Amino acid sequence: MRTHPLHAPIAVPGMIHSLRALLSRRSTRSLTAAEREDLAQAQLRATRPIISGVLLCGAVLLAIIAVFDLSHVTPSIGYPVWAQLLAAFGVAACAAGVARLPQWQHRLMLILAGTLLTGIFMSMPLPGATGQLALRTGLFQLLPLALMALTVRPMSLLALALLIVVMAQLRIVLYGAPGTGSALYWLYTLMTIGFGLVLAGYRTDFAVSAWQMRRRLVRQAHTDELTGLLNRNGWTERAIALHAQALAAGRPVAVVVLDIDYFKRINDEHGHDGGDTVLRRLGDLMRARTGANGCAARIGGEEFAVLLDGDDAVAAQAFAERLRREFRKAQGAVVATLSAGIAGHLPGESLRDQMRRADQALYEAKREGRDRVHVAGIP
Ligand code: GH3
Ligand code: MG
Ligand code: MG
Repeated sequence: MRTHPLHAPIAVPGMIHSLRALLSRRSTRSLTAAEREDLAQAQLRATRPIISGVLLCGAVLLAIIAVFDLSHVTPSIGYPVWAQLLAAFGVAACAAGVARLPQWQHRLMLILAGTLLTGIFMSMPLPGATGQLALRTGLFQLLPLALMALTVRPMSLLALALLIVVMAQLRIVLYGAPGTGSALYWLYTLMTIGFGLVLAGYRTDFAVSAWQMRRRLVRQAHTDELTGLLNRNGWTERAIALHAQALAAGRPVAVVVLDIDYFKRINDEHGHDGGDTVLRRLGDLMRARTGANGCAARIGGEEFAVLLDGDDAVAAQAFAERLRREFRKAQGAVVATLSAGIAGHLPGESLRDQMRRADQALYEAKREGRDRVHVAGIP
């Protein structure tokens, strides 16, 4: 295939995409881009305080080393105590910045700076004290490893892995290879990175399953099992949000309340299963007709409600009439009709008050003989 020169810049995003695919876990591959972003945001909210806490631990360790140095409990690491305390303060400031800054790129810079600062002071070889050096080197590797396991974005993961390599190399350049030999040292460093990647992977899997379970539970808590429409709980949340959105945008908003006529009789004549079939049929019809600018719910046994964003009382009446006719026509073995009450929005009216007027209109429709739509008057 002939490649057009215009296609050349696609190579860079393509490479980033492949790198991301390489670093991504199987657990995240079934998610859409929007879902992945939502998940990333949830993870960032959860991990941000812990990352900041790990950095703060680094600052506390640096401060303890400085205090030990000052009181001659441990041999000096070669830097003056004030410089060590300043470094501890700097790392603590990075931790505070990570907890507060909104932009993840800025936070990443602070995470890298804080880790580097801690690493430099922690990896300092102690003159003639190899045992303590081993302990400090261990800590110096543990901090970036802990941070790696907590990072959410592949970019941050790569940056931290790179930082570990740079820190290890810097240590060799500044103080020479450790007594154990550089091969073992590099093996240790690469194992740190590998372990960090494995931990980060498990953390992601755990986050994905927790996020999916939460989403499933929220959906279940908001959905009516029989009809698949919103239940009363879901209606309360969704309708209030849509109502507020419509009013804020200056659009009209109408409420339709529906109730199946003589439903008790249908149950008596056709059994509970026959009644359920009728409920499901109305649910399907309402879902098909409501569309995207509104929401439909089963708010009680055989009572339903629809919120129509952008519709006034006249448009809502037409909607309800059509629903009533179609429901009547689409009968199987069981014949059923429905009554509806409509309320358009009055200035300053809450959803609760609007629904109350729609309910009164429904009561009127029932009183007038059922199988009809009644529009609420203005009180
Ligand atoms: P009206 O025309 O005045 O609305 O009379 P109606 O018989 O429809 O009203 P009523 O409130 O007296 O009866 C509602 C019935 O709905 C009673 C109840 O057994 C039935 N019902 C409630 N939930 C369900 C359900 O999930 N499935 C079935 N099959 N019936 C249900
Ligand atoms: Mg009824
Ligand atoms: Mg009823």
